[in-house]
Amino acid sequence: MADSYSRISHALKALRKERGWSLDKTASETGVSKAMLGQIEREESSPTIATLWKIANGFNIPFSTFIVDCSPDAKKTIHSAGKSEPLHPQETKIKVFSLFPYDKELHYEIFLIELEPGCEHISPPHNPGVIEHVLVASGNMQIFVDGAWKALKQGEGLRFDASKPHGYRNTSQQIAIIHDIIHYM
Ligand code: MN
Repeated sequence: MADSYSRISHALKALRKERGWSLDKTASETGVSKAMLGQIEREESSPTIATLWKIANGFNIPFSTFIVDCSPDAKKTIHSAGKSEPLHPQETKIKVFSLFPYDKELHYEIFLIELEPGCEHISPPHNPGVIEHVLVASGNMQIFVDGAWKALKQGEGLRFDASKPHGYRNTSQQIAIIHDIIHYM
């Protein structure tokens, strides 16, 4: 837990330093309050996935570059089980793991996401040009896209414009496991 707090805090401070952004500027670019940003930097808070996405969107960076080391070599063989550590300190209904972090040449990142029964997660819209491909590895789940919930079963996939409002939920009694490939222009 402490590790996650620290990793996110360091990433945020490094980004602000690199851009020369004050807390005020960062708050206005991300839509996350100055108080919350301060708490994250002081490792006092547990930002939600939605908050982390707002920060990534505001800095216009892929989600995984914000929190994990990204491999620079796309030609290298990588065997990833994904299940290292969720990409956020505290969230019980949805767990997001980095399967393949963002690659600067390929312009995408792949997440392994577990949705517990009863989970409903609405994502803040990402920046223009961001496309998501959701592939259901196990269980059943639904995706909110184009103003309605669409049901997906194991083995099915959905591609959508992630710059529009979208969400993920599991109304079944079993855990749902999905792969989310996020492509950036
Ligand atoms: Mn999303």
